[in-house]
Amino acid sequence: MVLIVMDTFRPDHLSLNGYERRTAPFLEGLMERSTVFTQAFSTSSWTAPATSSLVTGLYPMRHGVTEGFLAHRRRSATLEDLVGETMALNRLPGDQETLAELLRGHGYATFGLASNINIGSEIGFDRGFDRFAKLIGTPAKGVSAEGLAEKLSEWREQIVNARPYFLYLHFNDVHKPYEPRTPWFEEDRADGGEPHSSDVAAYDSEIGYLDSVLSKLYADYEWGRETLLVIVSDHGEEFGDHGQYGHLFSLYDELVRVLFVISGETLGIPARRIGVQASLIDVMPTVVDLVGLEPPLNRDGQSLAGLLAAQSSRPPNGVFERRTLFAHRVRRRPQENTEEHLWSAMRMPWKLVIPPRGRPRLYNLESDAGELTDVSEVNVDIAAGLTAELLEFQATTRGKGERIDVEIDEATLEALKALGYVE
Ligand SMILES: [Zn+2]
Repeated sequence: MVLIVMDTFRPDHLSLNGYERRTAPFLEGLMERSTVFTQAFSTSSWTAPATSSLVTGLYPMRHGVTEGFLAHRRRSATLEDLVGETMALNRLPGDQETLAELLRGHGYATFGLASNINIGSEIGFDRGFDRFAKLIGTPAKGVSAEGLAEKLSEWREQIVNARPYFLYLHFNDVHKPYEPRTPWFEEDRADGGEPHSSDVAAYDSEIGYLDSVLSKLYADYEWGRETLLVIVSDHGEEFGDHGQYGHLFSLYDELVRVLFVISGETLGIPARRIGVQASLIDVMPTVVDLVGLEPPLNRDGQSLAGLLAAQSSRPPNGVFERRTLFAHRVRRRPQENTEEHLWSAMRMPWKLVIPPRGRPRLYNLESDAGELTDVSEVNVDIAAGLTAELLEFQATTRGKGERIDVEIDEATLEALKALGYVE
C-alpha cells in the first residue's frame, strides 16, 4: 500500500478539471484508470493539521495538531531575534493509532519519507514506521522529488522484498518557493500581464516536475501491479483568488479542495469519478478497509470502500450526502496571548464560512464555485442549520493534542521564511 501526498497541490490545476495547461500527464492518465473523488476536502488549509487528519482519520479539534512549525513575528522585533527561542508545537495524541501504526500492527513493513518541515518526529509523524526520514536540505523547502526518490532507492531492496509493505511519500515540490522547472516552465506564458502569472507558471512547472518523478517511481516500483496506491494533496494554494497568496488564514475552496485518487487496477479498484463529498479524514478508514482490515472505531472519517464496489456512484443509504464536513484554522497571537478561529461547515452545495469577527458567509458551490457571493441573507434557514451543526460539533469535539517545545535555530528559521510559515 502506497500513500502519496502532493503538498499544496490544487486539483483545479489539472486539464482534466478544465485547466488551460496540461500540467500532469502521468497523473491524469492514472486518474482515468482510477477512482477519483471529485468533491474532496481538507480539514484545514495547511500541512500540520491536514496531514494529521490524513493519518488519523480525525478532525483537527480531535487530533489536536493545530500548531506546527510556524514562526510568530513579534511586534517591534526582527525574525532573527527568534533564533535561540522556543516554539510550541502540537504532537499527535499518543492514544490514537496512526495509519502506519495500525498497518505495522498487522504485519506490514512500513516506510516513510517526507520533505515538508512539519512532517517529522517533532509532531509524531514518524510513529509506526520501521524506517522514516524527513529530508530538509537546501533549498529550505525540502529536498526535491528526485532527492526523495534517491533516498527511497536506498531502501529499495527492503521495500520490494517486504510482503506486505506500507510506503508514505510526502512531496513538498509544489510548495513555495516555486522554482521554474525546465522543461515545464512556460516562460512565454508566464509574462501574461496578470499579476503573479509567473508564480502560477512556476507553480505549474513544479507540478509537471513532480508528475515526471511520480511516473518514474510508478514504473520502477511496479505500483500498477497489485498495489493499492492513494494519491492526495493536503491543501491547495491561493493566487489572489480571495486577495491572498500562499495558504494563509482562509478556508476558501482554492485552499481546502484536495486531490483524492485511489488506484489499483489489478485489485479491482474501478475507473470511476465519484461526486459524493469526501474528506481527508476518510482516507485512513478507507485504506484500512480496502486492505481487508477492520477500520478503527471512534474516528471522524468513514470508509468510502463501499462506494468503490457499488454499481452506482451514490451510496445506498445516502450517509455521505447527509454528512456535514468541517474545516478549521487557528491564528495565534502569542504576544497578546489570544487566538482567532476560522471555521467552515459544508454540505453540498452549501458552505458556511465563519470568520473570527463579522457575519458568517454562505456560498453555493454549485452556482458560485469561486465563492464570491454571500447568499446567507436569502438562505437564512440553511445558514442557521449549518451554524447549529458547527456549534454541536464544537461542543462535542475536544482536542487531545500534546504540546512540545522546539528550539528555533538558524536553519529552522531560514526554512520557515522560505516556506512562508511566518505570521
Ligand atoms: Zn502542506
